[in-house]
Amino acid sequence: MAGMRAVQVSRAQGPFEIVEREIPEPGPGEVRIKVETCGVCHSDSIVKEGLLPVEYPRVPGHEVVGIVDKLGEGVTRLAPGQRVGAGWHGGQCGHCNRCRRGEFFACERGPVVTGWSRDGGYAEYMTALQDGVAAVPDGLTALEAAPLMCAGVTTYNALRNSGARGGDLVAVLGLGGLGHLGVQYAAKMGFCTVGIARGQDKAALARQLGAHHYIDSQAQDVAAELKNLGGARIVLATVTNGDAMAATIGGLAPYGTLLVLGAAGPMQVNPMTMLVGQLSVRGWYSGTAIDSEDTMAFSALTGVRSMNEEYPMEKVAEAYERMMSGKARFRVVLRIS
Ligand SMILES: [Zn+2]
Ligand SMILES: [Zn+2]
Repeated sequence: MAGMRAVQVSRAQGPFEIVEREIPEPGPGEVRIKVETCGVCHSDSIVKEGLLPVEYPRVPGHEVVGIVDKLGEGVTRLAPGQRVGAGWHGGQCGHCNRCRRGEFFACERGPVVTGWSRDGGYAEYMTALQDGVAAVPDGLTALEAAPLMCAGVTTYNALRNSGARGGDLVAVLGLGGLGHLGVQYAAKMGFCTVGIARGQDKAALARQLGAHHYIDSQAQDVAAELKNLGGARIVLATVTNGDAMAATIGGLAPYGTLLVLGAAGPMQVNPMTMLVGQLSVRGWYSGTAIDSEDTMAFSALTGVRSMNEEYPMEKVAEAYERMMSGKARFRVVLRIS
């Protein structure tokens, strides 16, 4: 039996354990991936801390990049040696009524989630459904591509489906792991892009990422400043603070949308503001494998890159703490092999 090293969590709030496991065999419709890199995402805390039901032991990780090294029965779309990524959305049943309507994120059997409902990329090898795998373009390294499999696709796919058109005012609330990508995508998509964060010291970063305007939410009234700029068609909310999200609503243009990506607590919305402006508050789910593929192709084409801190697999606990501290600039990535 051939062995591999993997990082598993055996119980809610248990430690990361580096263990020897059998290399998994790909089942029908699956591929085996030799993992090169795996991003450490805030959603990994679902498994680490047991925030939602998890079948333990579980190998986390849903920002996976590696090389296809074995095909299961019936796999036709992929070939050994191909570099691929596996993200949050790991596949769907394909047969329920939601899937029949193409609403894969809402699959009634529950979308397959990499690193939660099946083992993920904190391991030297993993298996994935072929439907859950995205091709990585040659222009991106494994380190560059990994964060695009969750943080990247979430921001890119939300923006491209937001209804905003070239030249529209689009604001990105938060300049962290998601936000630093969101600003780059918004600018490269041709939106007049506003970065919003706390402190004047982030202004230079926002401009470096491509923002045309910057609002310091500690010193300025965010809604008033957005209004001064003509009102935002979209506010892409990447922070985890409901009050900070709600504070932007008054700065939306007529028909504007607050697009919620950050997992935050309850948010207060004034119905009067909503109805006089015909405004919307909308949530956004990341995307499927083809959305990730589009994200990476767009990033390779336009030069959008995640800024990363890299850790070896052995330092997984340190990497996770760093990510959870909110101090990483801006995504944390494990080097697996
Ligand atoms: Zn994620
Ligand atoms: Zn389904």
